[in-house]
Amino acid sequence: MKIVVCIKQVPDTKGGVKFNPDGTLNRTAMLAIMNPDDKAGLEAALRIKDETGAEVTVVTMGIPKAEDVLREAMAMGADKAILVTDRVLGGADTWATSTTIAGALRNIDYDLIITGRQAIDGDTAQVGPQIAEHLGIPVISYAEDIKIDGDSVIVKRQYEDRYHELKAKMPCLVTALSELNVPRYMTPGGIFDAYDEKEVTVWGRDNLKDVDDSDLGLKGSPTKIAKASDKVRKGAGEKVTLDPSESVEYIMGKLKEKHVI
Ligand SMILES: Cc1cc2nc3c(=O)[nH]c(=O)nc-3n(C[C@H](O)[C@H](O)[C@H](O)COP(=O)(O)OP(=O)(O)OC[C@H]3O[C@@H](n4cnc5c(N)ncnc54)[C@H](O)[C@@H]3O)c2cc1C
Repeated sequence: MKIVVCIKQVPDTKGGVKFNPDGTLNRTAMLAIMNPDDKAGLEAALRIKDETGAEVTVVTMGIPKAEDVLREAMAMGADKAILVTDRVLGGADTWATSTTIAGALRNIDYDLIITGRQAIDGDTAQVGPQIAEHLGIPVISYAEDIKIDGDSVIVKRQYEDRYHELKAKMPCLVTALSELNVPRYMTPGGIFDAYDEKEVTVWGRDNLKDVDDSDLGLKGSPTKIAKASDKVRKGAGEKVTLDPSESVEYIMGKLKEKHVI
């Protein structure tokens, strides 16, 4: 069985988000990490590998420095890594990103593709389902549990106030939530292998299969950022001290005043 995990290198937003004067993300001012949902997706793939002996390949599209997250993934236990990087891919929106990743995946065999549900920087949750659409395979999103059952995958899918259990024949794509599991740490042996023994395969535009230039990079991105601005902060609100019966009357009056009721 062959599993591909798509991993995005994202800025760590824990220490606060830093912006350039034009409102775009200042990526160089923030630490780069493996997107949390993708790390959970990788852990799910590694647990399937532990049980079945599956081969796990990690793929990222990004700048050359994105190789760091691939090495980290191999230190956790991934077998192979592919970095898709090329100047012509820069400025890609979700359409151009998913077109690129699908173009790379057409070169390799896979039974199961796992992506994160959402990247913590772009936050669109579009790339996983778009890759599935490009490749013509089913997608199950919001996975909180993934099990292999013969030639199918069974997924516990988070759905507002309940769960759905869905089964799909492989090949298929599953998008993972960070609640899926607690990812393992890198092992000392794994770190040694990942940095000294294993290779990262590097592909450029010419390695993308069945992809048109007009769908790549900034030129191939139908989404344009028209404006970036800070959120207007909510006010402190209004504090009143009343007894319970007066409070109800007061709140009802406010709701009527604002046409909420
Ligand atoms: C006009 C325009 C220009 C942009 N230019 C840039 C730019 O130059 N550099 C930049 O970093 N962003 C750029 N962006 C943002 C870019 O569109 C998104 O970062 C990217 O398309 C992924 O979308 P997302 O972060 O919302 O991912 P989501 O859809 O939220 O991600 C879901 C999952 O898809 C997978 N995934 C997403 N992206 C990748 C990836 N690159 N490699 C592997 N797996 C991935 C991961 O598993 C991830 O968890 C640009 C956006 C626009 C609109």
